[in-house]
Amino acid sequence: MSLATVMVCDDCAHEVSLSTLVNLCPRCGGLLEVQYDLQAAPAGLAQRARERRGEGMWRWRELLPLPDDATPVSLGEGDTPLLATPDLGRRLGLERLLLKNDGLMPTGSFKDRGFALAVSFAQHLGATSGFTYSSGNAGASFAAYCRRAGIDATVFVEDAANETKVAAITLYGAEVLRLEYDTSAQIFETLDELAREGYYSFVNFVNPIRHEAMKVYAYEICEQLDWEVPDVMVHPVGTGGGIWGAWKGFNELRELGLIDRVPRMVGVQAAVCAPLVDAFDNGRDHTIPTGDAGATMAQSIAGDTMIHDGRRVLRAIRDSGGRAVGVTEDEIAEGMLLAGLGAVAAEPSAAVSVAALLRGREEGWLEPDDTVVSVITATALKQPGALQAVAPRPSGVVAATAQAWKDTIRRETAHS
Ligand SMILES: *Cc1c(COP(=O)(O)O)cnc(C)c1O
Ligand SMILES: [Zn+2]
Repeated sequence: MSLATVMVCDDCAHEVSLSTLVNLCPRCGGLLEVQYDLQAAPAGLAQRARERRGEGMWRWRELLPLPDDATPVSLGEGDTPLLATPDLGRRLGLERLLLKNDGLMPTGSFKDRGFALAVSFAQHLGATSGFTYSSGNAGASFAAYCRRAGIDATVFVEDAANETKVAAITLYGAEVLRLEYDTSAQIFETLDELAREGYYSFVNFVNPIRHEAMKVYAYEICEQLDWEVPDVMVHPVGTGGGIWGAWKGFNELRELGLIDRVPRMVGVQAAVCAPLVDAFDNGRDHTIPTGDAGATMAQSIAGDTMIHDGRRVLRAIRDSGGRAVGVTEDEIAEGMLLAGLGAVAAEPSAAVSVAALLRGREEGWLEPDDTVVSVITATALKQPGALQAVAPRPSGVVAATAQAWKDTIRRETAHS
């Protein structure tokens, strides 16, 4: 059933069996990527997936690296709505704007796709404990799936992780520790050392399975559009696992003959902490640590370092004819307000993919007739402080009398 064959190192092409729990390449420390034999895809794969509605992400199991005899650890992830938002589109001068609302995932963020797969995979191969580090959303997702799988979870959280996010992680029964460090380089040294000693890590920078699950929204989006391809996909970028996975998904669909082109991939970061934008604008093939993670309210994408120094993501956005965009704090707040007018509550890190649309229209890289999909990666309820700071204030106080209420409520419908 699964078409996955082996993992291959990005740097030295060393092959690693899918029946080993391994993070980085054991030969050179490079990033591993799962390969598939798409030639062997059964005819009617898409039709079968359509008939398996209700299985969520697992409808696409042929294209995921979970062994056939494994049972997915599931909390009902996948098949989130792709919402047409004509009102919001009109405001932005876009005829066809769609929001892929992953805020509706089981723990409220798109991280659930990755952890559903990575935890299922690890459980099948016998893992009984694991760890990740997180600014909050990854930790909550990891904790929930580990709880479901009976795996002991330890989560090292960034200082930036707000109390609500931390509480969600402990609620799911994980052990949580606040992380103390001077530079982000220290974290990567620690990860490398643990990997060398054989610890299996669920951290996005090294885990080769998590990214694979992000392919699935490429599948979902194209299916939801009846196999039409969006012109542009706008995605918030932290470590880069999400946008890169989506890019891989679109390319697989093209290889399978289900679509005939791929979208322009637009990666969005907070301008004050934007290593991807810095590398893109300066024509480099890799990112260098830059920016101030503490200076943005977009906590979930605030990091000065990316997976494999951003190489995969830079390749993806350049090959696709896309771009990297840095949005200001004011633009992020505006993005939250605009998403709200699309009836979607987005935390700041998710709202950047709406904020970037303003920029795209202004700078001319979005045309009015482009079909644009913006991914909403988490719900605003994840970050109550930012939600309260950005949302308009209530209008005031009113007595509970019919007359007072009548003076307030608009009666347009009754008159029209
Ligand atoms: C983790 C996260 C991101 C960034 O995803 P990466 O795969 O690290 O690029 C974006 N938005 C939200 C809400 C997140 O939690
Ligand atoms: Zn290697």
